[in-house]
Amino acid sequence: MDECIFCRILRGEIPADVVYRDEHVTAFRDIEPMAPVHVLVIPNEHLASMQDVEERHEPTMGRLLRAARLVAESEGVSELGYRVTINTGRNGNQLVPHVHLHVMGGRVFGWPPG
Ligand code: AMP
Repeated sequence: MDECIFCRILRGEIPADVVYRDEHVTAFRDIEPMAPVHVLVIPNEHLASMQDVEERHEPTMGRLLRAARLVAESEGVSELGYRVTINTGRNGNQLVPHVHLHVMGGRVFGWPPG
């Protein structure tokens, strides 16, 4: 996807603070962090939304979750806990149309979310 901002990050066209990368997923710091730790974990293959996830994407979705766990550990928030969020669609406040897990930690999060 030529214009997708996260695909551009993956291609190195836009700088990002990458904290984890493997064959399938990449994690980088959110440019406007909502918590002391705020990392986005994305699939290396463009996938616009949770609504586009099909059976063939199951391995990718699993890898995203595992990478989120690894990032939480390497960022030092796994012991106290953290939040993983996938915003989806307009009501879900998804702004970037490339699936991404928000991994946030370093503070207490309320429930329900606002
Ligand atoms: P969402 O509302 O779930 O689509 O979240 C998109 C997230 O991407 C927001 O938290 C933005 O701060 C973040 N973001 C947008 N552009 C960049 C960028 N170039 N580098 C890092 N994070 C970004």
